[in-house]
Amino acid sequence: MKVRLIYPEGGKFPLRYRSRIAPLGLITVAAQFPRDWQVSFTDERLEPVDLEERVDLVLLSAMTYQAPRAYQIADWFRARGAKVILGGPHPSVLPREASFHADAVVVGEAEGTLPQMLRDLQNGSLQRVYRCPEKIDLTELPIPRRDLLRGKGYLPVDLIQATRGCPVNCEFCAVSATFGRGYRMRPPMEVLSEVRDLGPYLFFVDDNLLLKRSYTEKLLEGMLALQKKWVCLGSIRIGDDPGLLDLMAKSGCWLMYVDMGPWLSANFSARTPNLQQEERCYRNIQKIHEAGIEVIGSFAFGFDHDDPGVFERTVRFCQRARLDEVEFLILTPYPRTRLFERLEGEGRIIERDWAKYNTMNVVFRPRSMTPEQLLEGYRMAWREFYSHREPDHAPRIGELTLQPQL
Ligand code: SF4
Repeated sequence: MKVRLIYPEGGKFPLRYRSRIAPLGLITVAAQFPRDWQVSFTDERLEPVDLEERVDLVLLSAMTYQAPRAYQIADWFRARGAKVILGGPHPSVLPREASFHADAVVVGEAEGTLPQMLRDLQNGSLQRVYRCPEKIDLTELPIPRRDLLRGKGYLPVDLIQATRGCPVNCEFCAVSATFGRGYRMRPPMEVLSEVRDLGPYLFFVDDNLLLKRSYTEKLLEGMLALQKKWVCLGSIRIGDDPGLLDLMAKSGCWLMYVDMGPWLSANFSARTPNLQQEERCYRNIQKIHEAGIEVIGSFAFGFDHDDPGVFERTVRFCQRARLDEVEFLILTPYPRTRLFERLEGEGRIIERDWAKYNTMNVVFRPRSMTPEQLLEGYRMAWREFYSHREPDHAPRIGELTLQPQL
């Protein structure tokens, strides 16, 4: 059986190097195929899809902004007789829509349904939708087929995942809809054993690796001996926990991606801003820096409290905090999130082309400014921050400097 896994193109994010970070989901799925199947992988962000290839099965994974392109590719291969399976965050929340373009749709985590689906495929009894009945246990997860990534030009960083899910359930976030509100953890020994076989630089893709202190501590104590350098996503509140911050630095954390969330911009826009809160955030960034860890700050614009002055105030904060890199996003209501449902109910969704749901377009009517002001302010923030940043003040992977290429 000849199988092609495809990660579709989905627009050019201003920090271009991000498209050179390998996706983890499809290569994890690849590990579940029978060994005698011929499985290969295309990342359309880095190489064209060979539309003339004769394959038996095409499997595509799509975030919302990739869905239109995934559907195009799916339709093309189906018209040529290949079976097509769609999965990933977008088909999981809108399986009916996806099923118009696929022979089968995987809803939720593929690890839970793939073996049955592959058996059905071989028996000629493929179902339209495969739903994982419950969130899967993360013990003995398949080890991703990283061999499929070789030679594609990815950054020299190995992606790994230790936990899934988030109990916080922020209104705008799709993580709870995708991975659930429970916080599930892989056994630390299994993560460490996978880490041991990886290269010197790692990226923990967990939405919040630091959520459960006792777990993180156990994992990082194991990392001490492995001498790896690693990146993670986490909360700015880590600055309030000097013990864990110290352990992060000692175990090799060199870069942290911090979602600044709506509370900071709410404070910027308030009539009587809580300066203590802003100072606390500023101080926590300093503490992370003092621990020797670089900080990437992520800021979304377009919350109901954001007025037209939010862009300038945010850039000023980023400059004062000397963030090593920032990303600015336009708030995007992904389907099935609480934010989407609310804006839909208020008649404020103005764009239904999923390709535009990529944090670079305004797809809803903001409350305290016009869509044009939101778009222009977002662009101004990128220009303003990066035109004043010193060129050597950028995150690095070893000798490699990650320049923004706006
Ligand atoms: S934004 Fe972060 S904290 Fe909020 S639900 Fe998503 S992963 Fe959890």
